Amino acid sequence: MQAWVIGNWKQNPATSDDVDVLLNDLCAAISTTKRMSHDNSARCQIMVAPSLIHLAAVSSRLKATSVLCAGQDVSAHSASTGAYTGECSAQQIVDAGATWTILGHSERRQYHQESNDTLLQKMTHALSQGLGVVFCIGETQEQYDGNQTLTVIDNQLAVVKAFIAEQPELIDSLPTRLIIAYEPVWAIGTGKVPTVTEVSATHQHIKQTLAGFADSLSTMTVLYGGSVNADNADSFAADPMIDGALVGGASLKAGSFLAIATAF
Ligand code: PGA
Repeated sequence: MQAWVIGNWKQNPATSDDVDVLLNDLCAAISTTKRMSHDNSARCQIMVAPSLIHLAAVSSRLKATSVLCAGQDVSAHSASTGAYTGECSAQQIVDAGATWTILGHSERRQYHQESNDTLLQKMTHALSQGLGVVFCIGETQEQYDGNQTLTVIDNQLAVVKAFIAEQPELIDSLPTRLIIAYEPVWAIGTGKVPTVTEVSATHQHIKQTLAGFADSLSTMTVLYGGSVNADNADSFAADPMIDGALVGGASLKAGSFLAIATAF
């Protein structure tokens, strides 16, 4: 099974010049990795999700590489154009050179009150325009402490269940168009990580739940995200339930990001 390592740049870097530096470093790290024959690009798909303002420049620069580009969100309105100030449609994201988008990141859920209803609209909009979706789920510290992880995840995966109830004809295409990223909120940007055993058990639950929705979803990719770095990537990569990583902070340093991708 192909692994995925995805860099979520969030609201970084600050300037186009800084983006250029990161891209130069990334392209140099990719060619060094190839030269040193650590190249696992056939096995591991690398993708980056820059901020919307930098998306077109980044995708144009990465066109000659095997690195894909993603948005970090999409409008909940299904129209490609219209009077929705501040929004960006799936068609516009595709036009900027992305083939995927992240949806439901905990920072969107927290700061923009994204509900399951909103996320179902966004998922429907993105997939209908040909964008793949990296759908983020995960529990807060309080929910983790209260042993509610699996209940929270089941509730968040209800969006996938609702999507396939609405569009059953798309079920078979979902394993290549939809990726689940399990990101415990308490592990994001904190340096705290669950044990590999915990992540593995949660991923197993996610995969079983998806398979329960439809047989063909049993092959869906499930990534781990939350304080993944060059030092701990190997341990996550060694677990067969963990199909790759969604990386925030460490994706802003090309060397660390490529080291994580190489681990998978
Ligand atoms: P982090 O972020 O790697 O900085 O913890 C992960 C994410 O938010 O996707």
